[in-house]
Amino acid sequence: MIAYRIMMKKINLFTALLCALVIVTTPSFSQEAKDSIKTYPGGEAHSVKTYPHDFTGDRPKNVILFIGDGMGVAQVYAGLTANKGNLFLENFKHIGFTKTYSANRYITDSAAAATAIATGQKTDNGVIGMDPDQQSVKNITESASKRGIAAGIVATSSITHATPGAFVAHQRNRSQEEEIALDFLASGIDVFIGGGVDFFTKREDGRDLINEFTRQGYAVKQDLEEIRSFEGSKLLGLTAPRANGRLSDRGDMLPISTETAINVLKQNEKGFFLMVEGSFIDSGGHANNTIQIVEEVLDLDRAIGKALDFAAKDGQTLIVVASDHETGGMTINGGSFESGMVKGEFTTGGHTGVMTPIFAYGPGASEFGGIMENTDIHAKIYKLLFGEK
Ligand code: MG
Ligand code: ZN
Repeated sequence: MIAYRIMMKKINLFTALLCALVIVTTPSFSQEAKDSIKTYPGGEAHSVKTYPHDFTGDRPKNVILFIGDGMGVAQVYAGLTANKGNLFLENFKHIGFTKTYSANRYITDSAAAATAIATGQKTDNGVIGMDPDQQSVKNITESASKRGIAAGIVATSSITHATPGAFVAHQRNRSQEEEIALDFLASGIDVFIGGGVDFFTKREDGRDLINEFTRQGYAVKQDLEEIRSFEGSKLLGLTAPRANGRLSDRGDMLPISTETAINVLKQNEKGFFLMVEGSFIDSGGHANNTIQIVEEVLDLDRAIGKALDFAAKDGQTLIVVASDHETGGMTINGGSFESGMVKGEFTTGGHTGVMTPIFAYGPGASEFGGIMENTDIHAKIYKLLFGEK
């Protein structure tokens, strides 16, 4: 009996030691995994071009607005370092900063920030295209359509997600993606390309919005090659059931979609407004993942390159590259222009309140210098594109 007790004590001691060992070693394993994604080891760089600054007049006929979701100065510089010291973005000579706070929070979410940029109205976090009293506010694509100016939306997230959603829809909460899809149907916008097929077809109300878009004269494409070669005037491109995957999975979805959207919209003689979102710089920030941040910033930069190709030839197109907020509280603790290595560090898994950079190229670009409210982005684009306040 005594021998049994001693044996049990030994087993218990052994078990306790084993448990302690597991507790001590498990976090250090995941810590290692966490640390490893904070460093981008270096990789392929895309070559960038320098474009002329010969523009016609001081007001643009077309405006292309890029939004890097979660893109602060550190994210931009991580991309620049990873691309061995250069980005297409360096063609932008007019640079400013944006105050990103929302109507009810010092730190905004993407819905309130995109509503501010799209409508000129600050609102509460989570709200899409409405003021804090839940009244719909007119957005820039509605103002464009009213004047016969074409409009388009491109995103890597679902097309009904907060950022693209705020440029088209009016809903109390960003989670109402099925309702946002219905607002898209009513909008008459010329081009939508993003993920989110499920919000159009697997709906609680049982409607098949793809059929309804088709009946309204849209070509509906789910294949990226068909989107690339599209030549009509109304396009709904849905490239994933919900969000598009990481870059390795979705390939050149964003640059290809940007090019297609420009080709569709430029057919309009009165001009166009296009919003293109690099949606997942934010996801990289939330995950404290420098590798994903770099992938996404470089993808957005390649899409910006497509817009510059068009704008430099056209001479009447203003390109603005903005951000809704910073994500991750990122800084850079080391890097190499030779290898492209970037060592990131983070202060949070959420958004931060810092100002975000804004860059402009083309007629009217000088409007975007200095420190501005996020709502000023709407006011400036509105004034430049429509020639009125
Ligand atoms: Mg977004
Ligand atoms: Zn976020």
